[in-house]
Amino acid sequence: MNAFDLGKFEEEAQELWTYAFESNPSNLEKCYLTVAYPYPSGAMHVGHGRTYIVPDVIARFWRMQGKQVLYPMAFHVTGAPVIGISKRIAKNDPKTIHLYRDLYKVPQNVLEEFTDPLTIVRHFASEYQRVMTACGISIDWRRRFTTVDPTYSKFIEWQWKHLYEAGHVIKGVHPVRYCTVDDNPVGDHDLLEGDKAEVIKFTLVMFQHGDAFIPTATLRPETIYGVTNLWANPGVTYVRALVDGSAWIISQEAAEKLALQDHTVEIQDEIAGRDLIDKTVSHPLCGKVPILPADFVDPDMASGLVMSVPAHAPFDYIALRDLQRAGKYTQIKPVPLIKVEGYGDIPAQDAVEKAGITHQMDSRMDALTQEIYSAEFSKGKLFDRYGGKPVRVARDDVAALMIEKYASKIMYEFDTRPVVCRCGNKVKVKILHDQWFLKYSDPVWKKQVSDHLGDMALIPPEVRLEFDRTVDWLKDWACTRRVGLGTRFPWDTTQLIEPLSDSTIYMAYYTIAHKIREIDSKLLTPEVFDYIFLGKESPDLPEKKKLEAMRKEFLYWYPYNYRFSAKDLISNHLTFQLFHHVTIFPKDKLPQGMVVFGMGLLNGAKMSSSKGNVFLLEDAVSDFGADTVRMFLMGSAEPWQDFDWRNELVISTKKQIERFFDTVLESKDADGEPHDIDRWLISRLQSHIERTTEALTRFQTRQALQEAYFGIETDLKWYRRRLAENSDGSRELHTLCSVWIRLLAPFIPFTGEHLWKELAGEGLVSFAPWPVANKKLINTRIELAEELITRTVEDIESIRKLIQMTPKSITISIAPAWKHEIFLLIAKSNDRNTVIKEIMKDDAMRKRGKEATDAAKQCTTLIHRLPPHVVESLAREPINEIAVFEAAKIFLEKEFGVPAHITHAESSEHAKAATALPFKPAIIIE
Ligand SMILES: [Zn+2]
Repeated sequence: MNAFDLGKFEEEAQELWTYAFESNPSNLEKCYLTVAYPYPSGAMHVGHGRTYIVPDVIARFWRMQGKQVLYPMAFHVTGAPVIGISKRIAKNDPKTIHLYRDLYKVPQNVLEEFTDPLTIVRHFASEYQRVMTACGISIDWRRRFTTVDPTYSKFIEWQWKHLYEAGHVIKGVHPVRYCTVDDNPVGDHDLLEGDKAEVIKFTLVMFQHGDAFIPTATLRPETIYGVTNLWANPGVTYVRALVDGSAWIISQEAAEKLALQDHTVEIQDEIAGRDLIDKTVSHPLCGKVPILPADFVDPDMASGLVMSVPAHAPFDYIALRDLQRAGKYTQIKPVPLIKVEGYGDIPAQDAVEKAGITHQMDSRMDALTQEIYSAEFSKGKLFDRYGGKPVRVARDDVAALMIEKYASKIMYEFDTRPVVCRCGNKVKVKILHDQWFLKYSDPVWKKQVSDHLGDMALIPPEVRLEFDRTVDWLKDWACTRRVGLGTRFPWDTTQLIEPLSDSTIYMAYYTIAHKIREIDSKLLTPEVFDYIFLGKESPDLPEKKKLEAMRKEFLYWYPYNYRFSAKDLISNHLTFQLFHHVTIFPKDKLPQGMVVFGMGLLNGAKMSSSKGNVFLLEDAVSDFGADTVRMFLMGSAEPWQDFDWRNELVISTKKQIERFFDTVLESKDADGEPHDIDRWLISRLQSHIERTTEALTRFQTRQALQEAYFGIETDLKWYRRRLAENSDGSRELHTLCSVWIRLLAPFIPFTGEHLWKELAGEGLVSFAPWPVANKKLINTRIELAEELITRTVEDIESIRKLIQMTPKSITISIAPAWKHEIFLLIAKSNDRNTVIKEIMKDDAMRKRGKEATDAAKQCTTLIHRLPPHVVESLAREPINEIAVFEAAKIFLEKEFGVPAHITHAESSEHAKAATALPFKPAIIIE
């Protein structure tokens, strides 16, 4: 029995594929694609599925084109997250247990062993391999490795030796994102929230309050002259602390932060926020001002207290106005200090009133604040009594003055919050001494990357701008951590190389991964890698034969052709890997291209494992079948667009595969004689082949499926309609089935393998030759004739709907020769506006008068509506419409169940016949 059973097809194919995708150097043209390897700390969801299936479709397409394709996979287990997870599981943290037991479905006995971090990554690495295999991803698994393998660590040490020698590894003092629970700097990958937050340098303005200072953080120290009050949150408990020996009043959070930024902090006492309200503070540059209450003051932002400049800060202006409207503090007036073109005396008031903002929570407040900030910075000038300098000069001068004379300090803080570590702890800014950095700020290094980017294929092209911006903006990168898994840092073995820094050139390691493990890692000196990757000879290299084999692999496969990844990695990994490549490898071994993906949505909302909004890939495969998952993910959006997973749509994809399966089985053995309609089908097929190939060459999986699936399906429907009664079609259908299976095989390889066997195709469809369009089979005349019939049938159908009567006969009336003449002149003309005048210069046409001008206008309209390729073909070679309809007479009579007459419009009595145009005959239904 040959029933549609995806589960069965999957089993059959898996057996055939066990070693099929292992790939070795050969005489064929090579194509090497890689995907960012996963960090296996949880189960895969359908979003991950797309990340690996898009390259798989491309790999399968290339293979069928006769290329030698390498698609390898490894597992990135470096870093601290998995250590946090194991700790939380050991502590029986209910949220973590729920995630792993209920969502990721880890069996209880395995979960109990998750207190060892390596067990977690080993478990999920083999789960990943199992699920990827179930999805039909054609990976050479011999090359699998993890980033804690001893041989890999030797490779990383070699890489870093070169980075160091090139001067890219430096030691310094820097503020970094830091998690005090993990006692580790925090990389982008370690964050639950806040990956866009940047560390900003604030000036603390020190207000005197009794014997203590109250510091407020600002980016605009020059506005001190306009301070009218401070804001404190009455609901917050502040502390009095000795900071470097002097007393400060700050929030509890600020005390903790300052301790991480080179200050000694000793908390002495607590002070209720409400006890600070209405107290007075003073500063030499603004005199005495009161402390006012404000709920919006966030104790977790800088010092936890804020200075208020209502004349120039919209937030301060509105907050003060609200208090005054309640009848309080009415004696306080905004104090302007900056003149800025385009604004009145009090810019904040001006801007707020112009925008019609009535309350603090208005979503436009941030933009407004930014607007004034920018305007004052670029064209503002302090009043003469405050020195008269431009703001951009005064800002630095006042900051320097405050630090020198008025006890100001620097405080680092994030520009946006919250910033949360994967462990759940809030991330703070810590100043690290003796921290190691990759010097991405180096302009020479940046220039090398920019130059190479210019030579790379980037897909879609719009991402080039984002790459350029990232290269431009990248700052020095803290590249070591104290806690986690990974390779020891060669110049300080108490530290480890962090995850985004040990995953930049491993694409080269894949080329040798299966061979290098045959060599004892102790023998893997830098000279060994210098030989394999750079061809540098040195005396006493061990295992020379094996090294030569690895050199050969590297030379064959490298550079990689394309790297695939989600777009959120542009700002780190995808750019970092270019920095490292340009340092380590010669020009002819630098990356050639990148394909950047959009994001995955689940029922319209962003997929997120930590928020539980995911659909597991394995569940999708078992519910719908691997081919369905693949076809849905490839067909619902182009790779760089966001896609949205919705079960109801996935179900209809499954039905489409079933229809394809049934159609192939029904059609493959047809053996009738070919007619014109068969020639039409085969002619059309050539364009589908061409357009599917073009689309896949441009990585447009959705466009390719439109052509390969829907394009051919629509043609087949029309073909069946056009067949004579009792005909199953001709033997050309076998050819079509063979092409169709191969065009869809990259998308639905399981169904593809099954049907390929049914068709008695040679070998595996995975390696069958990709169809090539045969130009000789393209028959424009037959396609045009069929286009004319399709359009006429559609016209008849819509007229029938309109007139609501049972027809007795249908007459198709063909336009006269002179209208064809007009049509041709217009179709061939470059200027369709003046062509009518030209036509009317002809004597015969002029004699026809209005009839001719009307026909010319109608032809122009028609030509605009017809597809350009149809107009082009008609202009080149008009068709004999009478002959076309005579040949289709039986079909038309069958379609509409009444006699059909084909007439010349000129010999017709019927008034409607006069409306006949070329390629649009008059239709008379009686
Ligand atoms: Zn943490």
